[in-house]
Amino acid sequence: MNKVIYEDDFDLSEINSLEELQNMAGNCARCGLRGGCSGVVFGEGNPEARLMLIGEGPGADEDRLGRPFVGKAGQLLDKILAAVGLERFKHVFIANVVKCRPPGNRAPRPNEAESCLPWLYRQIELISPRIIVLLGGTALQNLVEPDARITIMRGKWLVSKSGIKIMPTYHPAALLRDTSKKRPVWEDFQKVRDEYLKL
Ligand code: SF4
Repeated sequence: MNKVIYEDDFDLSEINSLEELQNMAGNCARCGLRGGCSGVVFGEGNPEARLMLIGEGPGADEDRLGRPFVGKAGQLLDKILAAVGLERFKHVFIANVVKCRPPGNRAPRPNEAESCLPWLYRQIELISPRIIVLLGGTALQNLVEPDARITIMRGKWLVSKSGIKIMPTYHPAALLRDTSKKRPVWEDFQKVRDEYLKL
């Protein structure tokens, strides 16, 4: 990742297991989102996955069930994964920029994202994926470049400082609103699958 996120002294570098990190995150109240949600949605999947998917934040269904991408957009994501031969619990780990639901499904504010990103960064370090798919503009802007546009950046490989290949694509919720985005996402996930098979 290119952005420098660690602007405060919130240091998670001594947390060496995903389970311990999840337990700690469950008690987090570093930003105001915690007060308006049911609980922290840490993420799920294979903790040793070589592929991570990162979205924006939990919605109502995710907040209620405590799991990422379980609503309509999540069901579509599972179908997209299946179409390229990938399964949620076998091949990927799924997380979000923020782990608590923003009210009314608004995008997380910059201070909320910056408060939450240390959790995600430590997740990435512990899972150590070789490929990350950024689902939507919020993930792209918070993890790569604040002014980046998903319409311009999607479908193009980026590489993090630590050598992780990064593919930005549209968020599945955008596909539900605009079916013309299905083809580009399909093409992006085919690229991801092809790269994954080379690992
Ligand atoms: S959104 Fe992230 S930083 Fe804010 S309270 Fe929830 S877990 Fe903590």
